[in-house]
Amino acid sequence: MGLTRRQAIMASLSAIALGGCTSTARTRTHPRPIAGWPGYPANPAGNQRYTPVQAPYQQPVPVPNSAADVTTIAGGINAVGRSNWTRTGPISSKVNAMNGISKITVHHEGWTAVDFTSQSATAERIEKIRKYHTGEKRWGDIGYHYIVDRAGRVWEGRPIQYQGAHVSQNNEHNIGILVLGNFEKQSPSSAQLKSLYSTTAALKSKHGIKTALIRSHREINPTTCPGKNLQNQMNGLRQYVG
Ligand SMILES: [Zn+2]
Repeated sequence: MGLTRRQAIMASLSAIALGGCTSTARTRTHPRPIAGWPGYPANPAGNQRYTPVQAPYQQPVPVPNSAADVTTIAGGINAVGRSNWTRTGPISSKVNAMNGISKITVHHEGWTAVDFTSQSATAERIEKIRKYHTGEKRWGDIGYHYIVDRAGRVWEGRPIQYQGAHVSQNNEHNIGILVLGNFEKQSPSSAQLKSLYSTTAALKSKHGIKTALIRSHREINPTTCPGKNLQNQMNGLRQYVG
């Protein structure tokens, strides 16, 4: 019995990391965008570009590298709890109820490139984002519900009972996932992609989200977010979650 489709996709992500992100390696091993999105193919498994790669399966979520990594169940997702990066909760007068979940939108940070992987540096960065969102932007909390860091950890952001602030006019029912980095300038790490894929699959399953409503920011609004090097993962992500 061969690898399942999901295992094969995860394995191909590992192959990318080993081979670097040269255009040659990407062409050979990387799920490439299917022309015509949002016309997502009715039978993506039939696309020859996704032929399973026979490589050893690796666990999709890497083990965090610090004893201080405290995990919690945030909206059904195993994540580094919010108390590990901030002491400040959402401003209740500035947040609205989610009213059920039916969509996921993927973002990048789009600031300076991110190469740090430690818990402490990541916590500092997420708190910086929250302060920017609540300060300059005057929002009720950090805009995103989950943050995937460079090491592949998933962090709890805004509690998912509240609408986020991540897609203009489209925050109700919509989970926002931030992948930390600037993917116009850099590529997501293999660990990040694995976590993004597995987290999205878990959220889709938990909330019964339709694959067609798992989109990147630029698939909804005119923006470069989540950057070309993460945008080119979106069809692979939808393929993975099925
Ligand atoms: Zn965005």
